[in-house]
Amino acid sequence: MKRTQTPLACDRCGSVYFHEAEFGQYRGGLYSSAPGGEISHLTDLPQRARICICGEPMPDTSIRRTGEDARSFAQSVAAAKAHRARQQPDALLQELLAELAAKKDLAEAQQRLAAIELALQAITAEAIESSKQ
Ligand SMILES: [Zn+2]
Repeated sequence: MKRTQTPLACDRCGSVYFHEAEFGQYRGGLYSSAPGGEISHLTDLPQRARICICGEPMPDTSIRRTGEDARSFAQSVAAAKAHRARQQPDALLQELLAELAAKKDLAEAQQRLAAIELALQAITAEAIESSKQ
């Protein structure tokens, strides 16, 4: 069987070079500066992933992962990808446009409130005038 020669490409930038990295969980909190007090692993087996030159993590679908560590790692990869997606110019622009639309709604509501206040003042003044007669 002839294997495909098409290299894996990053779905974000199209680059075809990756760093294969090992990830693990580390104990949080304070560390002792004394010998032997270095950062310690929480997980036994490292989780592997390819990282594109642009920084995008590429989940390795060829490796079948099972167990709690694998699920936790998959969640971390998904969180990292979602965070990176929110930092893209298109996503930031959509967020800004939504904020501007909300400001426009607020300005319209303020105009309507000012008109209601004017109407209320006119009604109140009319009531005071008619009570004097
Ligand atoms: Zn990339």
